[in-house]
This record gives sequence, structure tokens and C-alpha cells, in this order.
Amino acid sequence: MCVRTCTPKRLPTASIEQAIATAVETNPLNHAPVAAARRLMPGRALNRASLSILTARKWQTHGVKLTVGFLDSPPADLRKRIVEHMNAWSATANVCFTETNGEADVRITRAGGLDGGYWSYLGTDILLIDRDKPTMNLEGFTMNTPESEFVRVVRHETGHTLGFPHEHMRSDLVDLIDRQKAIRFYMATQGWSEQEVIAQVLTPIEDGSILGTPRSDTNSIMCYQIPGGLTKSGQPILGGVDIDKLDYQFAASCYPK
Ligand SMILES: [Zn+2]
Repeated sequence: MCVRTCTPKRLPTASIEQAIATAVETNPLNHAPVAAARRLMPGRALNRASLSILTARKWQTHGVKLTVGFLDSPPADLRKRIVEHMNAWSATANVCFTETNGEADVRITRAGGLDGGYWSYLGTDILLIDRDKPTMNLEGFTMNTPESEFVRVVRHETGHTLGFPHEHMRSDLVDLIDRQKAIRFYMATQGWSEQEVIAQVLTPIEDGSILGTPRSDTNSIMCYQIPGGLTKSGQPILGGVDIDKLDYQFAASCYPK
């Protein structure tokens, strides 16, 4: 079976300023740690794209209440199952996802093709998506999808919706990646510069997170996932398979109950 990995989903470049403003307005803690970044990358100018990556996209600290809608009419049992897995984060964090038939904050499709795969926009970025467009995609999910995939994929994508980006990988995993393929792929699909691909995907967590987070949880459900086409062996790299203890602690610290 071919295991599908998460594709980072980014707003178009034209929306960067608005995305940064929305993020900081929603939660002032989202401000880019510009001084720390300058120390880590002396002599490098911070362009808009770097500033956008450095700006967090978390929701307000006092709790996240988001409505969920489905754009492609899945059956009721499937809708319920997806929303239940989204709410797994509420075990420790003040977050609540509720299904609605009306206009929803989180809009889910299961499309394939060009916009297929597994993805979600990051945190407050979903506010900038047209109200009739999806903010999350779970390609091909049905009631026949194994429970382990609901755990691995729905919870991971919901982490993105909550504003949690990918964790960097440890060096033994980064070593499995074909650097040139990865640089080409992420430049083409994410619009990143070569330096940004190196910082985002090819810099092991041991080398220090640019965001200065003390976390280095290599079993995190938010670990980077790398498609098989970008590894030397052709095998995909999967991150953690479920929300782990540190993920739960981190979520609780972002959105305390
Ligand atoms: Zn992801």
C-alpha cells in the first residue's frame, strides 16, 4: 500500500502581508522572533517569505472554538468520525470543533487530483480562504479507511488547523532525503527559495529550531512527512502516528483550559 504523506499548504504570496497581520491580530504571541532570527542568520536579510514562515499562526490563547463543514457531502457517520478525531486534541487543550450545516470555519473535502492529498492551511491562515473553498483535504477518506489512518492523518491535519507547523526531523531521517529532489520539489510546490527548503526540511532538529522552541520531540505527530519520491530509498518518511505526550503538553500550553 502506498502511504500518503502530508503536503504543506501555503497561502499565495500575495496574501502574505494580510496573513501576518491576521495572525498577530488574533494572538500577539504570533509575532516573528525577528531578533532571534537575525542572531541565527547574521547578514541575511529577512524577506517577506521568511517573515511569513517565522510568524506563528496560533489562535487566541483563551480557547479555540471552530465550526466544521463538509463540502462534498460525506455520510453522517463519516462526518461524526472525522470530527471526533479532530477533538482528540481537546483531551488537554481548550479546543472544540463542532459540525455545522451552515457556513463553517474549517471546511473539509476529500478531493484527489491536482489539489488532492492530505493538507490543511495553518491556524489563522484559514481565515483568509474564500468561504466556499476547503481549508483541509483528506483525499479518499471513507468509513472503510483504517482507524489508524484517522488517528495519524486527521489528528495531524487538525494540528495544522490549530496552528501547529511541522516539527523538524532528526538528522538520521534528514540523511534519508535526496537533497536536490527535495529542493526542487519544495521550490516548485511551496514557492520556497533554496535556503528556505534547507531551513524547513533539510535542517535537523538537533541543529536548533529557528523558532527557538525548546521542543525536540521526534515522535511528535507534527513531524515532517516526506513523500517517497524525495527519499534516496523511495520509501516515504512518516512522522509520529498519534498525538504523543509532548504534543498534548504543547497543545495545553498554547490553549490552556
Ligand atoms: Zn503536515
